[in-house]
Amino acid sequence: MTDQDNKAPREKKKVFPARMFKRATVVCPSCLVRFKEHADQCPNCQFDAHRSVEQFQFDPPVMQRWMDNAKVFGAPVRQEIDQIIDRLTKQFPQVSLSICTVELDDPISLSEFGFWMMNACRLEDGQNSDQRSWTILLLIDVKRGLLSLTPGYAIEAFMDDADWQEALKMMVPDMIARDYRLSLKGFVKDAVQLLRKSAQEVMQSVKHN
Ligand SMILES: [Zn+2]
Repeated sequence: MTDQDNKAPREKKKVFPARMFKRATVVCPSCLVRFKEHADQCPNCQFDAHRSVEQFQFDPPVMQRWMDNAKVFGAPVRQEIDQIIDRLTKQFPQVSLSICTVELDDPISLSEFGFWMMNACRLEDGQNSDQRSWTILLLIDVKRGLLSLTPGYAIEAFMDDADWQEALKMMVPDMIARDYRLSLKGFVKDAVQLLRKSAQEVMQSVKHN
């Protein structure tokens, strides 16, 4: 018998080990090109994170699940979507999803705005910055009909660009028809699927290492 066997049953392995599969690159919030993380500026468009954050003169809100500034999700819709998100967070307690509706004007870049929010928004009571890094922020600009997804740096490593881009694309027809409920419900369901898929891939690669 080894020492290991004498110990109490070990805590169940977390499905998403933090930073284990962290990518060596980040996506530029402005031009969406990938570049090496240690770069201070995007080599493609010279996007500068510090300058970008200064351009938004808003008071950053507290990051929470619902930030429905455009008031397109009534209480019954939220309840319906909450049930799907709750199933997700039950399976993956680290992960949280924040939905923010805005009405912005050109030339504000929605992805830069998301990047700003991810960095500037205040933490909820009892939340820490590590939890922020597992947050996925979905921005819906109801005025211009635009969508943007900003993942925290920890969850980002588990998200395949093409898959999530496709999930956003699927939201568009319902959004154009102003059926925000159906649009968001479809996305949240896709998000659950995609995170499960990533979790399975992680478990497989853990087994093979
Ligand atoms: Zn760029």
